[in-house]
Amino acid sequence: MSPDDVGGVTNRDDVGADLSVRPGTILVSRNAAEALAAVRTDIGDCTRCKLHAQGRRQIVFGVGNPEADLMFVGEAPGADEDIQGIPFVGRAGQLLTKIIEAIDLKREDVYIANVIKCRPPGNRNPEPDEVETCEPFLFQQIDIIKPKVIVALGKFGAQTLLRTLDPISRLRGRVYEYRGAKLVPTFHPAYLLRNPASKREVWEDMKLVRKLLAQN
Ligand code: SF4
Repeated sequence: MSPDDVGGVTNRDDVGADLSVRPGTILVSRNAAEALAAVRTDIGDCTRCKLHAQGRRQIVFGVGNPEADLMFVGEAPGADEDIQGIPFVGRAGQLLTKIIEAIDLKREDVYIANVIKCRPPGNRNPEPDEVETCEPFLFQQIDIIKPKVIVALGKFGAQTLLRTLDPISRLRGRVYEYRGAKLVPTFHPAYLLRNPASKREVWEDMKLVRKLLAQN
């Protein structure tokens, strides 16, 4: 599995002066916060895929430490996220916060984003054309933040990042190389709310994450 081959690299020290970036272009900036702001500016009031016309209230870009060692990537915004403009709020978000705190970090220490930035109608799965159009923005976020570890949350997030259709139950428990980071798939917090017995596996995954963070 080698999803490392997406996009090129552009060295730019003047990103604060020029806020225009294109999907697929990776920024190497001295100031990660400015570079992330530039990506958000470029997304604008995005109409690049059909989700813009299917009831989204706002774009949910991402939140957290622009220089985080640990990044969480989920699927797409849900209803609460669409209202607040912040990823992983509501009950699933509260559980994610507890998961983060379980390894002695705070929510503001990490960065949290989704593969897709707009809520699909009725919380349906994102469609391939939507993923293809939107995921370059996630790639830019990853390349700017340069996390040591990425946790892919849930089946869709893990399958999309790893370019596989393997079920999450087969993907988790292993470490993957991904855009310079170690990627650890685990169950989505929303799944854990429905299946609390799986919290044990997530705890195992988070212990692995803690070990990887200490190694790097
Ligand atoms: S999902 Fe992504 S590509 Fe589609 S409209 Fe929203 S921001 Fe643009």
